[in-house]
Amino acid sequence: MIIVLLGPPGAGKGTQAQRIMDTKGLVQLSTGDMLRAAKKAGTEVGKKAKEFMDAGKLVTDEIVIGIIADRIEEDDCKQGFLLDGFPRTVAQAEALDELLKNKGLHVDVVIEMKVNDESLVDRIAGRYTCAECNQGYHDTNLKPQQADVCDSCGSTNFNRRSDDNRETVIERLATYHAQTAPLLPFYEQKGVLRTVDGMADIDDVTVQINDVLNQL
Ligand code: AMP
Repeated sequence: MIIVLLGPPGAGKGTQAQRIMDTKGLVQLSTGDMLRAAKKAGTEVGKKAKEFMDAGKLVTDEIVIGIIADRIEEDDCKQGFLLDGFPRTVAQAEALDELLKNKGLHVDVVIEMKVNDESLVDRIAGRYTCAECNQGYHDTNLKPQQADVCDSCGSTNFNRRSDDNRETVIERLATYHAQTAPLLPFYEQKGVLRTVDGMADIDDVTVQINDVLNQL
């Protein structure tokens, strides 16, 4: 099964992707995570991506399409995968269709996580992840059970993203509306778009997503 999670930054895509990954056994492909890893490792791709990421702009289609084209060839993608943060432009969606078509595949469902822009800045400003296993947390909405200890792996090291500051978030939201929101009619026309209420409780959003997936 090939699933796309679509929504603005802070909609909860990463959190829900982790849950779907656990229950459906699908691998999560996050271009944001891949680009951050490339940036940290100082690769050519990372160096090219840095400037765009720090400014809250999109990295070029060529770079991210190349990353995904390579990644979906790996063995763990054979049973399907969950895309989180890709595609983000119509050109990327068209390229994805082409890549999948060559393998006799197609996107099965696109789940839009609908949220109010006003809530996003606070959501993003409070979030952090485990430095070891990448489990996501939030200062008020999703704290670890034991303070400062990761529920999943017991690590006490956590990271906050450098682009999760108010100024960059506002730019990332503008980028979403200008370049990514046009994917909604694109996928609606293909009959694969489903929308869930991303403003609901985290567990409730998971229930809504599972309902969508169980209907496929
Ligand atoms: P994310 O973790 O998905 O919020 O992505 C963080 C940043 O990585 C974005 O603000 C973009 O600069 C870049 N990025 C991630 N995915 C893409 C994509 N599909 N196309 C272009 N840029 C991307």
